[in-house]
Amino acid sequence: MKAIIIGGGVIGLFSAYYLHKSGWEVDILEQGDLSDNCSYGNAGMVTPSHFVPLASPGMIEQGIRWMFDSKSPFYVKPSFNKDLIGWGLKFMKSATKKHVERSAGGLRDISLLSRNLYHEFEKESGIDFGLEDKGILMLFKSQKVEEEEIHMVEKATNLGLDAQYLTPEETHKLQPGIELDILGAVHYHCDSHMSPNKLMKGLVKYLEAEGVRIHRNTEVTKKNQDGNKITSVSTKDKEFTADNYVIAGGSWSPGIAKLAGLNIPLMPGKGYSFMVNDPVKKMTIPSILCEARVAITPMNGGIRFGGTMEIGKINKQVNMNRVRGIVESVPKYFPEFKLPVPNEKDVWFGFRPCSPDGLPYIGISSKYKNLAIATGHAMIGLGLAPATGKLIADAFNGEKPLIEAGLFDANRYQ
Ligand SMILES: Cc1cc2nc3c(=O)[nH]c(=O)nc-3n(C[C@H](O)[C@H](O)[C@H](O)COP(=O)(O)OP(=O)(O)OC[C@H]3O[C@@H](n4cnc5c(N)ncnc54)[C@H](O)[C@@H]3O)c2cc1C
Repeated sequence: MKAIIIGGGVIGLFSAYYLHKSGWEVDILEQGDLSDNCSYGNAGMVTPSHFVPLASPGMIEQGIRWMFDSKSPFYVKPSFNKDLIGWGLKFMKSATKKHVERSAGGLRDISLLSRNLYHEFEKESGIDFGLEDKGILMLFKSQKVEEEEIHMVEKATNLGLDAQYLTPEETHKLQPGIELDILGAVHYHCDSHMSPNKLMKGLVKYLEAEGVRIHRNTEVTKKNQDGNKITSVSTKDKEFTADNYVIAGGSWSPGIAKLAGLNIPLMPGKGYSFMVNDPVKKMTIPSILCEARVAITPMNGGIRFGGTMEIGKINKQVNMNRVRGIVESVPKYFPEFKLPVPNEKDVWFGFRPCSPDGLPYIGISSKYKNLAIATGHAMIGLGLAPATGKLIADAFNGEKPLIEAGLFDANRYQ
């Protein structure tokens, strides 16, 4: 059996990995040259601790407040774009306590499965992508966030996740050489981190060596169908045929789905990151600055700083004001880290594929029985990639999924 995967991000590559492993012949069609996409410059965290979807109570009120601050970590560009309006309405409908409660167990299960699969993959492939299980630290400065975080520890513990509240002194002991200015922290022992750039490069090389064909600079512009089956996909000068197809086009997925008349509500959430290769102090444990929504990850001997979520269009502009927002937030928690503002050319950006209810789309289309959708992972796509790939392969192979994945039904907005 032969499968075609549209999109060579981490979701497409892991779909290829599990399909190939279960005996499929696989072609990946990628519009770029595979030197970059959202899966490279991200913060590299695998986070079972992120069991609350982006669409949650409080996000709307907070989001509106942030919209008036040019350095804020979250921004929705106001526009009469009908996709954005439709997305926003669905987001508001989903941002309820009930939705958060309904989603927690499923998000935990897929994250834990994925983390285990990362370890299996590391052993099996022999690729060193810097996977470490040191957990992540949620650092906070305000009493309001402290209250929220204490509540989250309780919820995490009830979900069976290993989370521990720490005083500033206890937090300091974990990285004794580094000065901290915080009110407290939560250590999510259940989380891991890695170097996404090493993972992506290693995975591409590994798949090609295993016989997966990767077609670079190959943009899918047309889908051909007959009744309830996709028969082929075309680029501007070539047609590709397979038994089954996977849409794994990240933030471009709605356009790809539309080629087959499918509706996948999704908006790009632009984020920025930059590397500091010779930091003033070495860090060993990743952290998230809660109030600033900035992620800090030790990576390849340096440190990666990342953040912001601009919901809007796909474009190549770097908003240096938001990058400054990241830079200025860091010494508020780590006083020794007075970072210079990076040059614009050294700022990486990527587009998180954000579904309106904050949950990924994973599974077979109800309209085409040989088409699967694997996208919408927003802030947790790197972490969820192996589990997503495995769920897609199991669906094509008619095997029982390793977890209950109904929450991620790819047809929920059809
Ligand atoms: C600043 C930042 C920090 C982040 N930190 C984390 C983190 O710590 N942990 C985590 O889990 N996640 C994190 N994320 C999110 C994560 O990076 C994404 O969820 C993930 O990379 C999405 O992967 P993807 O494969 O769906 O999309 P992409 O990586 O964008 O890949 C999609 C690919 O499809 C290709 N494509 C699109 N259309 C076509 C077409 N028509 N034909 C052929 N190819 C096409 C694109 O060129 C692209 O290469 C972060 C994101 C950002 C921006």
